[in-house]
Amino acid sequence: MPPLSLFNTMTRAIEPLTPADPPQVRLYCCGPTVYNYAHIGNLRTYIFEDLLRRTLKFNGFDVHHVMNITDVGHMTTDADAGDDKMEVAAQREHKSPWELARFYEEAFFHDTSLLNIERPDVTPRATEHVPEMIALIERLEANGCTYVTSEGVYFDTSRDEDYGKLARLQLSEQRQGARAEVVEDVTKRHPSDFVLWFLNKPTHIMHWPSKWGEGYPGWHIECSAMSMRYLGETFDLHCGGVDHIPVHHTNEIAQSESATGHPFVNCWLHGEFLLMDSEKVSKSKGGSVNTLQSLIDAGYDPLAYRYFCMQAHYRSRLNFSLDALDAATTGLRRIYSLSPESDTLARGREDWMEARQEVLDAINLDLGIPTAVGLLNGYGSFSLWREFDPILGLKLDERKHQSAETLPPEAQRIREQRAAARAAKDWKLSDGLRDELIAMGYEVLDSADGDIVRRKLI
Ligand code: AMP
Ligand code: ZN
Repeated sequence: MPPLSLFNTMTRAIEPLTPADPPQVRLYCCGPTVYNYAHIGNLRTYIFEDLLRRTLKFNGFDVHHVMNITDVGHMTTDADAGDDKMEVAAQREHKSPWELARFYEEAFFHDTSLLNIERPDVTPRATEHVPEMIALIERLEANGCTYVTSEGVYFDTSRDEDYGKLARLQLSEQRQGARAEVVEDVTKRHPSDFVLWFLNKPTHIMHWPSKWGEGYPGWHIECSAMSMRYLGETFDLHCGGVDHIPVHHTNEIAQSESATGHPFVNCWLHGEFLLMDSEKVSKSKGGSVNTLQSLIDAGYDPLAYRYFCMQAHYRSRLNFSLDALDAATTGLRRIYSLSPESDTLARGREDWMEARQEVLDAINLDLGIPTAVGLLNGYGSFSLWREFDPILGLKLDERKHQSAETLPPEAQRIREQRAAARAAKDWKLSDGLRDELIAMGYEVLDSADGDIVRRKLI
């Protein structure tokens, strides 16, 4: 069986996974900044990371998965300029930054559970790991990699010979980038230098004492300190979205390796962006599609969004549209409606095993989930879909059971009345009957193929 191989952003090549301490795989994913609801673009990245985690487990690895919660220090630009996103949002919502963080952290885990994303083993909050961050900055200081200005303690990128190796940046390019997007910070020595510890921010509510003065940590040091705390100074896999390559992960590498003197991460994986443009939800009250809840409000199944994301490879951009989500809804329904009785592939043991291997090989080649989904759709075998559900996470057994469940007579009567109303294009009546079903605890999903009415899962 070919081993699991993954594209390493550092080497720009697909490499066999060789964990330092098999069967354990140590995996770190940059987690949410909890100042708002996750948007569906963020959620695409967490779905990709979940598919990775589940693929590792399917291949027999023992995954130790850490994902941080950023609840302080992520500025309104990925560099240090602007204000702390948490504090800006807290003011807007008239909450304390602590209350805000807990609220959006809970909302995040609610969304991820609706998407059947498994919870990482450890989800450390930045505000609960400040001593580890201070200790790491002290190590950097002892190694001569820092300097202090009125704004904060800075990492001196000129002290790091291979600064920018992940993004293959030249410092001159960094300088141009910095000029274009960041309000220049006059106190730092080089445009690529970044803040480890912010100082002299009297209006910042969250602050901690340190040998340099009262302040708060920078976003990059948070991930270095928390990943090393739970996974060791060198670990196997580190993930995030592609936007993290030039600044956040570049700076994580620089500070971690300058502190420890050895490699930080063996393999870097980055998920491409979901492009959203100005898609509007037309089926509900209106407003932009942005959050998972906006899709649910428009009548979509969260797992249809998960299935939609599985149509594109994680290293390709994906355009979001409601038409594509409709197609994913229909596709998912087709999978749920596959009948185990007419599963001809399941009757020939050898053919089934061969098909299974073909699908697994596709997945194991840099998470070729779209290829695997194409193969599975081609085979149309319920038992084969079910075999891979531990990776794909479409809840086949649960949903199968639900669609087979007969509705109680009252719900069935309303459903039939609604079907008649829809056939007569009496949308007002059909919407009213839909609301009745929802009030009775059902969810109602419509498509060109008809409706699905089932007990609400959440
Ligand atoms: P944040 O909460 O802003 O730190 O972002 C959480 C994750 O979402 C990070 O891994 C980002 O790289 C990723 N991300 C941000 N925007 C998008 C997008 N449009 N599509 C996919 N991933 C994204
Ligand atoms: Zn991070």
